[in-house]
Amino acid sequence: MSYASETRRRRTFAIISHPDAGKTTLTEKLLLFSGAIQIAGAVKGRKASRHATSDWMEIEKQRGISVASSVMQMSYRDHVINLLDTPGHKDFSEDTYRVLTAVDSALMVIDAANGVETQTRRLIEVCRQRDTPIITFVNKMDREVRDPLDILDEVERELGMPCCPMTWPVGQGRSFGGIIDLRTQSMTVFQPGSEKRPEDFEVIPLSEADRLRARFGQTFDDALESMELAVGASAEWSHEQFLAAKLTPVFFGSGVNNFGVKEVLDAVVDMSPPPGPRKSTLLVNKQPVEKVVHPEDPGFAGVVFKVQANMDANHRDRIAFVRVASGKYTPGMKMRVQRTGKELRPTSVVTFMSQRREAVEEAYAGDIVGFTTHGGVQLGDTITDGPALQFTGLPFFAPEMFMTVVLKNPLRTKQLHEGLMQLGEEGAIQVFKPEAGGNMLLGAVGQLQFEVVQHRLNTEYNCDIRLEGCQYTGARWITADTPAELREFENAYPMRMARDAANTLAFLCTSPYDVRLAQERFPKIHFHPLREHA
Ligand code: GDP
Repeated sequence: MSYASETRRRRTFAIISHPDAGKTTLTEKLLLFSGAIQIAGAVKGRKASRHATSDWMEIEKQRGISVASSVMQMSYRDHVINLLDTPGHKDFSEDTYRVLTAVDSALMVIDAANGVETQTRRLIEVCRQRDTPIITFVNKMDREVRDPLDILDEVERELGMPCCPMTWPVGQGRSFGGIIDLRTQSMTVFQPGSEKRPEDFEVIPLSEADRLRARFGQTFDDALESMELAVGASAEWSHEQFLAAKLTPVFFGSGVNNFGVKEVLDAVVDMSPPPGPRKSTLLVNKQPVEKVVHPEDPGFAGVVFKVQANMDANHRDRIAFVRVASGKYTPGMKMRVQRTGKELRPTSVVTFMSQRREAVEEAYAGDIVGFTTHGGVQLGDTITDGPALQFTGLPFFAPEMFMTVVLKNPLRTKQLHEGLMQLGEEGAIQVFKPEAGGNMLLGAVGQLQFEVVQHRLNTEYNCDIRLEGCQYTGARWITADTPAELREFENAYPMRMARDAANTLAFLCTSPYDVRLAQERFPKIHFHPLREHA
């Protein structure tokens, strides 16, 4: 049986932006216009994660909301749209990278006054590495912002790909008159207010230039002129180029005013790709063989790209977010975690409908399903109802900050280890156990990760810990072509070897020179700054 008709109508994308560009607002409007929510103001709890720790803790209390709202499913024009949020705080960027492995395209939101900002840049890099197609939305045109030609230029430079404007603004700020749709050659007239529905906006064809001129005066003529310049200077629309991540369509609007949003929602349906094939390895006679999994393949397969502790701290259950790669999920089906070969017996299986979680009736490639389990599932795990596949490509980055964990009450050692292992498996932080013994080390990409882990160890595992600085400033995962070479290396640096939560060997460094020196001494050893789950 083929599920092509189901997978073809799915769109799974991540929304990326620098904090405050308007991601939350836009998400909410997308949900509103697809009918997934009834009133604006319903998307809460997503915001605070980027602010101070105290806010994060607060959000922690409402974990139910933040879990539910990091993935949202909606239907629109007979399509099923899965929207994934990416945490705004830079300290959670690792989490974000992994979310980006679970999507087929991205929607980039830019504040028209600020252009492409730092946090967006890092996200763009990851999209570029993965050739993820990007739709660009230039937000806040109702404000005094930069010249749209300038913005296009900057997006082109930052993305390293040509822009193709799909809509063009007429004026901005107080003189913002609306947007011209280049394909329909008509102008949609701006009206402020968050009550407006897409169909409420007045549309005037460009052929009625006199009428538009009478209404918008010089602003209209200026817009036509800059639009011509933009069209002349930018790439012609090519769907193939967009899918190959070699061109980005650009839309202008104002999220808070519901303006230019429907155009984006339509673009997601019309332009963004449905789920594509994914690479995996399959064990054939104990030998790994590359296998491409197609979305319409009958066997169920999915990959865990995010693990999050559940709301109730007294129950150690966790939600594993699985991106379905092929086949069909139905309740009660038998599945295995391929890393361990064990059967997965979730206590509940949910899909995420904006604020609600609902029991999944069926899910296909592209959908995100949440399995609640008591453990046994790790970040990067592959789950199938059949063959021993393992998807590749979920990245772990070498941490840049390290802390030693000191437990205040030694009687809680067992709980501490359990907590650290679980938080490590969740990817909240990286946990390293020195081969030579001694205290566990925590490795993070962002400072906030330490605070979160300390807080969670305390509240969820009743372990009061102190974090102490240590001399390490980096780590590299280590592989060698032969066990003998690896042994020789380990013997040379016994105090520097550690294992992470996935039991992968790492070399701890105290300065960037460490790696260079070690590499010179052991040219055959491979030092990896990035570990892909395999
Ligand atoms: P996020 O941090 O990217 O999720 O940004 P938010 O959606 O929370 O928006 C940040 C701020 O910008 C909020 O105060 C919004 O009300 C405001 N905002 C969002 N979209 C627009 C817009 O189109 N125009 C104006 N003037 N403000 C906007």
